[in-house]
Amino acid sequence: MAEPAYLQGLNPPQREAVLTTEGPVLVLAGAGTGKTAALTARLAHLIATRKAWPSQILAVTFTNKAAREMKQRVSAISGGAIEGMPWLGTFHSIGARMLRSHAELVGLQSNFTILDTDDQLRLLKQQISASNLDEKRWPARQLAGLIDQWKNRGLTPAQLGAADAEAFANGRGQELYRAYQDRLRALNACDFGDLLLHMLTIFRAHADVLEAYRDRFKYILVDEYQDTNASQYDWLKLLAEPRRNLCCVGDDDQSIYSWRGAEVANILRFEKDFPGAKIVRLEQNYRSTPHILAAATGLIAHNAGRLGKTLWTEVNEGDRVKVIGVWDGPEEARRIGEEIEAHERRGGSLNDAAILVRAQFQTREFEERFIAIGLAYQIVGGFRFYERAEIRDALAYLRLVAQPADDLAFERIVNQPKRGLGDKALASIHACARATGQPLLLAAASMLDSDELQSRARNSLARFVADVARWRQMAGEISHPELARILLDESGYTAVLQAERSAEAAGRLENLTELTRAMEEYESLGAFLEHVSLVMDNDAQQSGEKVTIMTIHAAKGLEFPIVFLAGWEEGVFPSQRALDEGGLASLEEERRLAYVAITRARRKATILHAANRRIYGQWTSSIPSRFVAELPKDHTEEETTMSGGESLWRAQWSERGDPFAHVARPSRGPGWQRAAGGNFNAQPQRVVEARASAVSLGNKGRDDLSVGQRVFHGKFGYGTIEAIEGNKLEIEFEKAGRKRVLDSFVSLS
Ligand code: ATP
Ligand code: MG
Repeated sequence: MAEPAYLQGLNPPQREAVLTTEGPVLVLAGAGTGKTAALTARLAHLIATRKAWPSQILAVTFTNKAAREMKQRVSAISGGAIEGMPWLGTFHSIGARMLRSHAELVGLQSNFTILDTDDQLRLLKQQISASNLDEKRWPARQLAGLIDQWKNRGLTPAQLGAADAEAFANGRGQELYRAYQDRLRALNACDFGDLLLHMLTIFRAHADVLEAYRDRFKYILVDEYQDTNASQYDWLKLLAEPRRNLCCVGDDDQSIYSWRGAEVANILRFEKDFPGAKIVRLEQNYRSTPHILAAATGLIAHNAGRLGKTLWTEVNEGDRVKVIGVWDGPEEARRIGEEIEAHERRGGSLNDAAILVRAQFQTREFEERFIAIGLAYQIVGGFRFYERAEIRDALAYLRLVAQPADDLAFERIVNQPKRGLGDKALASIHACARATGQPLLLAAASMLDSDELQSRARNSLARFVADVARWRQMAGEISHPELARILLDESGYTAVLQAERSAEAAGRLENLTELTRAMEEYESLGAFLEHVSLVMDNDAQQSGEKVTIMTIHAAKGLEFPIVFLAGWEEGVFPSQRALDEGGLASLEEERRLAYVAITRARRKATILHAANRRIYGQWTSSIPSRFVAELPKDHTEEETTMSGGESLWRAQWSERGDPFAHVARPSRGPGWQRAAGGNFNAQPQRVVEARASAVSLGNKGRDDLSVGQRVFHGKFGYGTIEAIEGNKLEIEFEKAGRKRVLDSFVSLS
């Protein structure tokens, strides 16, 4: 019999990982060795050989994007012919799915809301001030961090140890955690950490529920296993224990989420908790060229305490890893833009290229530049789209309609657009809600007959309450995108934006249209809202080729032919925070991030560092990242736009016995002067130029331009200005259509 397609091309250890279906298996291997490929083949194999129905398999990926890709790969492998679907998704999405079926066991209803960080913070702030604590002294953010940590460790308020409970506001951490959990329950809501924590609580208290899942899941598969935290591990272990058909794949060198409670130690625990586990090692890398692989391997070798592994590749030689030193952030963006355009001119696709950054703030520079030169790009990761104020408002309307007890949604929109319901009216509604134990919306409705509110406030509140009731009624009758359009219209939300007549308001209206368009892809309002609360990777599914910009964290598990690694400077990468606070452990995590970053590249990796960067509005001078100096020289090729700089700082780095002791805060202090001061002085005119260009990228517009004027743009040709917002112009181009461009790129026609 011919070998099934999903096995063809797999190497012997990969086959072993696929075919050893019974018993615990741990695949431990470096980047690009086909771990995910093997895991996907294993899933296909289990289904094809009827070892289990798809619905009896649980497969955990690290991102929603990875889950989608695995789904596609499985359908492709099995020719689309699979009955039912596996439980395939992130820990969060699978946790949410399970919890919806058992919510009542932890005092929730099945339509509970999943809060995002913003809601969570607002709630904690209220909690802190209700406890008569000074929010300045005891910030909500800190409490949120602690609560997340506790949840990641699988600890309910009752399970906190004495030391944990001491952690906040002189021993009031436990009490606040408990109050927060009570409040969530009252709101019929939970946060991300709860999705698994509640399931752990349920599993432990209700043996029948646990049994049912143990019975159902014949096979469990986990990708990116090195980044599981304690509560995820416990959850997996509870489910997998009796059958022990658990297959985890991971790479200790790619553990980059310890700040979110991930424990590499779970890799070591695996063999202990599942004795007799088969350990599979993969050593052939199929992704990258030898230079890229050697550069990454040489870099990660600077970490101590690794499990260690061998990697080799048969991929063709290719270029060395390029290291480019530029003057400043805008030049870095300009340079990358040029490289990408050159790739395009050679017939390459924009989809081939990715720019990976250490921190979200770095993306803005590229957005500005790419808007200016008309290069299509997408930002993946984070909540960029769903984070926008107008989108969050619209979502709050939808949430309140779906779930009248959603007090946070109520608070957000009760006076949005302005309805003359000020703080005073809100305070009375709050008081009434507290006294009667009702959600805010119901409390508001019950106050309409009393004279607690001034008549103006009462009238507009009455209208609002009646509106929500009507929309709720409609929700059962019309499609949810239609409902969203009606909500936004009837609430007056769109009218306010339309009246504004600014380019910004127009942009907001466009976003709202985009929101209703996005809703069409979901079968119900509930499904859509769930999606919104779960998507960490917002890759707005527009068509057409585009460059991807994302953080390294979001890029884990992915690969691109051409990768640009921007901002390799001390204080950016490794981050200032890691340098200031973390000691060796955080520095090693930063280095693992650098390893993840380089190993995303298939054919070409380019690392950039700038001598000057504007961070939070402040120009700072910087020296190249120590990681640049740690790259093996035989596999890199250096280029600098500055004289003599490169060899100078490299010498400095290698002279130092202990680079960490020497450069605590190199990017802010005199360290930079020592390392790169010569360059700065040698080319003073470039400083002026850099700042001048920063001004033109700022928000001040040109005063020689006005709406209705005909202008010329280097790339798009002639067009008429339709709107001006700061330094951005909305132009209807005669050939290229409507575009937003920077004013510095147009001239009067
Ligand atoms: P990471 O550690 O980054 O998650 P990984 O180990 O999961 O990497 P994959 O993403 O599964 O690696 O595979 C890397 C690349 O190698 C993919 O393009 C994949 O299609 C290819 N690949 C995997 N196994 C083989 C094989 N046996 N033959 C040819 N190509 C392979
Ligand atoms: Mg992978």
